Amino acid sequence: MNTIEQYIRDVQDFPKEGIQFKDITTLLQDPKGINDCLTNLLNLLEDKKIDKVVGMESRGFFFGTLLAQKLNAGFVPVRKPGKLPYKSISESYELEYGTDNLEIHIDSIKKGEKVLVHDDVLATGGTAEAVKKLVERLGGEIVQFNFIMQLDFLNGKEKLKGYNVQSVLNY
Ligand code: 5GP
Repeated sequence: MNTIEQYIRDVQDFPKEGIQFKDITTLLQDPKGINDCLTNLLNLLEDKKIDKVVGMESRGFFFGTLLAQKLNAGFVPVRKPGKLPYKSISESYELEYGTDNLEIHIDSIKKGEKVLVHDDVLATGGTAEAVKKLVERLGGEIVQFNFIMQLDFLNGKEKLKGYNVQSVLNY
């Protein structure tokens, strides 16, 4: 068993019946949990020459900024509509019912910059795919998609075919 698995709590029927939610707040409560998780995430990355770490609202912010600090890179938040104050571009992605959008500041990534995309969980891959489009529209080069957990049975990796997709834990 990976050492960080013990810090993650399964919550039944959240956010709705039939879903088993992987809760990382229990990992965040423990300094050893934070340290072990960060070390594991860094170990996934062979080429550590990263210019920007992009983290998805909101659970991608926790380790996204820590990774950026360790990699001597900048951090770029991707946010839900209407949250970013400056000029932004937007991409829509599919939810179970309907669609939603994600946004990024237009000046957050320069053409040719090497980007690490981080989030806590890869589920269906819709979120990561929208972020991929945003980063590439700005000219960023995605070196890796980096997750704490990947829910393999939801096939999120299919939406990121051809990319380097890594996670600490697979379920
Ligand atoms: P996807 O777009 O891949 O279906 O869903 C991924 C997004 O939903 C991520 O931003 C992630 O934070 C959230 N998510 C989906 N399922 C879980 C889960 O079981 N636990 C946590 N912590 N986040 C989840």
